Amino acid sequence: LHEPDFKDTNAWKYTKECLDSGWVSSAGKWVNTFEEEICKFTGSKHAIAVTNGTVALRLSLYIVGVRAGDEVLIPPISFVATANAISHLGAIPHFIDIDTNSLAMCPLALQRRLDKITKIKDGICYNKNTGRKISAILPVHVFGNPADVKAIKNVAQKYTIPIVEDAAEALGSWIKLDSKNIHCGLIGDIGTLSFNGNKIITTGGGGVLLTNDNRKASIARHLSCTAKTPHKWEFHHDQVGWNDRMPNINAAIGVSQLEKINDFLKKKLKLFSLYQESISSIEGIEILTPRVNTKSNNWLITLRFLHSKGYEVQKQSEELLFKSHQQGILLRPVWKLLHKLPMYKKNPKGSLNNAEDQEYRLINLPSSPRIISK
Ligand SMILES: *Cc1c(COP(=O)(O)O)cnc(C)c1O
Repeated sequence: LHEPDFKDTNAWKYTKECLDSGWVSSAGKWVNTFEEEICKFTGSKHAIAVTNGTVALRLSLYIVGVRAGDEVLIPPISFVATANAISHLGAIPHFIDIDTNSLAMCPLALQRRLDKITKIKDGICYNKNTGRKISAILPVHVFGNPADVKAIKNVAQKYTIPIVEDAAEALGSWIKLDSKNIHCGLIGDIGTLSFNGNKIITTGGGGVLLTNDNRKASIARHLSCTAKTPHKWEFHHDQVGWNDRMPNINAAIGVSQLEKINDFLKKKLKLFSLYQESISSIEGIEILTPRVNTKSNNWLITLRFLHSKGYEVQKQSEELLFKSHQQGILLRPVWKLLHKLPMYKKNPKGSLNNAEDQEYRLINLPSSPRIISK
C-alpha cells in the first residue's frame, strides 16, 4: 500500500556519519536537526522526536493530564495504536462516531454524547454513568484527510477537555483557518506524527510531538529523556520518566527523508488525480476527497462503495479484495472497527452508526509515490 523510498536520498550518507562518529543512540546532532526541520516544514514552534507514533500519543496524553482510570474520547476508525496508547496509561478509550465524509470524529456526535453523559464539577468533566473523568479528546486524521479539529475544539472548550491530535498519517496535510494554512496537529494542545516504514516519510521507527506550547514542550523533552535534570556528571532524575527519545540513526534517516517530502507529496497528488480520473466514470464507487478548505497529503488513497444495501457492499468489497490479491495487487480494507476488537468491545461508546455503515465500504489503493516514477 505504501512502500518506503530511499532512492536518490542521503539516507546512506547520513547513517554512515552516525556509525563513523559513534553517535548512534539518543544523543547526537541528527535528532536536533530532524526536530528543527520538522518545525520548519509544519510551522510548529516545537517538535520532540520519540521512538514511535504510539509512544508520541502515550506521552502527549500523559502531558495533557490523562491518568489511570480516566476516559479518553476517540473515533472507532483508526489504527489500533490510537486506543492502545490510552490503555498503556491505564485509561479507557470511549468511542464517538465519525463524520461519513472525512471518516474522522464527528463534532456533532461529540457534542451530543457529551451533552448526554457528562457533568462538570469544579471545572472537571465527568462521565455521569461511570463516574470517571473525561480527560482528553483524541481525533484522528484518517489516511491523511484532515479532521474538523476546529469544530471539535469549540465543543471541547465548553467542557474544558484538552485535545491531542493523532496526525500519525498526516504529515503534509493542512487545514485553512482564517485564511491561514495550519498543519494537522497544531489546532489541539499537542499533535503527534509517526515515521513508521509505511508512513509518508520514515525513520525506520519514530514519532514526533508537535506543540506551540513552551511548557508542554519542555515537559515532553524532560519526560522522554528519563526525567534527568541537566548536569555535567550527576545522575539525578526528578520523577519517573521514560526512555522515549528517538535515536540518532533514525533521525539521520528522517532528515534525508524530509529532504524528499515535497517530491513525495507531488507524486502522490498526481497519483490521486490519476485514480480519480480513471474511476470517476464507474458507477457506484468514488475516491474519497478531503473536506473543503483542507489539503490532504494523500497518504492512502481510498475507494468507497456507494451502494445503499450493506450486504451488497460487503459482497462487492470481498470480491474486489479477492480478485486484486489474485493478481498480486494487495488492496486492503479499512481497519476492523476498534470497538469490535476483543480488548475494546466492552468499552463505553455513543451510537456508532456512521462508522458501522462505512466499515465495508472502504478499500485502500496502492499509494506509494514510486508508482508514479515507474
Ligand atoms: C501508524 C499510526 C500510529 C502509530 O504509529 P507507530 O509509529 O506505528 O507506533 C498511530 N495512529 C495512527 C492513526 C497510525 O496510522
